[in-house]
Amino acid sequence: MKESAKASPASDQESFHMTPDEFRRRGHEVVDWIADYFKKIEDHPVLSRVVPGEIRASLPASAPLQGESFGAMLQDVENLILPGITHWQSPNFFAYFPSNNSGPSILGDLLSSGFGVQGMLWATSPACTELETHVLDWLVPMLGLPEKFLSTTSGGGVIQDTASSASLCALLAARERATNFASNEHGCDGKLVAYTSSQAHSSIEKDVKIAGLGRKNLRLIDVDENFAMQPEALAAQIQQDREAGLIPCFVCATVGTTSSNAIDPLPPIGRICRKQNLWFHVDAAMSGTAALCPEFRHIQDGLEFADSYAFNPHKWMFTNFDCDCFYVADRKALIQTLSVLPEYLKNKATESGSVFDYRDWQIPLGRRFRALKLWFVIRHYGVEGLQHHIRKHVSLAQQFASWVKDDEQFELAAPAPLNLVCFRHKGGDEINQQIIDRLNRSGDLYLTHTRLNDRLTLRFCVGQTNTELRHVEGAWKRIQEEAKS
Ligand SMILES: *Cc1c(COP(=O)(O)O)cnc(C)c1O
Repeated sequence: MKESAKASPASDQESFHMTPDEFRRRGHEVVDWIADYFKKIEDHPVLSRVVPGEIRASLPASAPLQGESFGAMLQDVENLILPGITHWQSPNFFAYFPSNNSGPSILGDLLSSGFGVQGMLWATSPACTELETHVLDWLVPMLGLPEKFLSTTSGGGVIQDTASSASLCALLAARERATNFASNEHGCDGKLVAYTSSQAHSSIEKDVKIAGLGRKNLRLIDVDENFAMQPEALAAQIQQDREAGLIPCFVCATVGTTSSNAIDPLPPIGRICRKQNLWFHVDAAMSGTAALCPEFRHIQDGLEFADSYAFNPHKWMFTNFDCDCFYVADRKALIQTLSVLPEYLKNKATESGSVFDYRDWQIPLGRRFRALKLWFVIRHYGVEGLQHHIRKHVSLAQQFASWVKDDEQFELAAPAPLNLVCFRHKGGDEINQQIIDRLNRSGDLYLTHTRLNDRLTLRFCVGQTNTELRHVEGAWKRIQEEAKS
């Protein structure tokens, strides 16, 4: 019987899948849509203007019974979703830390979706594991990291979803190493203590809660006038805890704090950890990318003392979320901490001991093929291309800092070692709040705040893929205008 033009009732239809040909056609449309979005991204207000509940109110109350056309969906993305997007990929995005992306990264991620592999074991897709190991080994000399993080030594690297997960894995391994793997068996007894600075990322506090140490066993060590951890205060606190019968096990130092980009002094902290036999984790979530350029590598001096290290290509290395690179010096400690092997996952490759099963290097079992996007980014740009763009971002931020210094209405609120400038109007919290609110409401740019020494401080971070001098100049002009009015 000939097919009628009218859609057949659902019960008569044999398949509802998108055919490969339709996928091809719609896929081209979506790529076109994204390319057009990038071309016109500066036309949108950077910060979304919707009010709470507005997006949901525009959506149907229940799911459609019958499938809808792809065209209708894409139309709704444009009409309903786009207004609720804050444009992280706008070159006028200077808020938080960046979460940038790039063409090669998006296309690598698309291929990863196409393969749709679940890379929990080497055996479940060998390329997923081996490409990841290989690209993480590439990054060791690219960033000037210690060789002990290479997979060809006792260490190795793995891609985690986020820096929060990486530091949690580090903390769990630290907990087990300190208790000879007894915490895995019996749980924590309230004696283990972890240390970080008062300026560390909030994820460390979350990790301590999840790992069972208890928040009151996290010591927030005082910082100096540049917001960097004071090693003498760390040593004194460890001493005090030992005297109280507690068991210090973990120290997290930060290279580039989220609040002000402070850089903890790794060599003295590392020496204390060595002497006291504490696990030393270094969190360089955004700023680690700067080490692509030899002239910025001094920020990670002392990394030779670290047991583990993490940085996020998904912040500043043109690789879209999620992609955190996590390295350990002794992979055995990590694997022994996280490994559980049920019968249904047993296989010859695992038993041979000659492969990595990355499920043992992370919290979840399952994992996406995230190395593809990172591989594409590194190959597309090359080391020199990446260096070019990182240098440019740092130099734009430094120019911005010099304009702040030269304007007597404003002051720098902290040193600006790389691409984050913390500054404020000298007139107090109220006017600074007004400046932020007006700028963000205008849609011309987006920046966020922090508090340093209990004073409201504006943060200006240059890291979006396409930010150029004209965007930074335009932002400074707008800031000055709002300071006057
Ligand atoms: C952003 C940031 C984190 C958290 O990053 P996620 O990958 O989102 O978990 C941790 N530490 C520092 C220093 C950061 O800047």
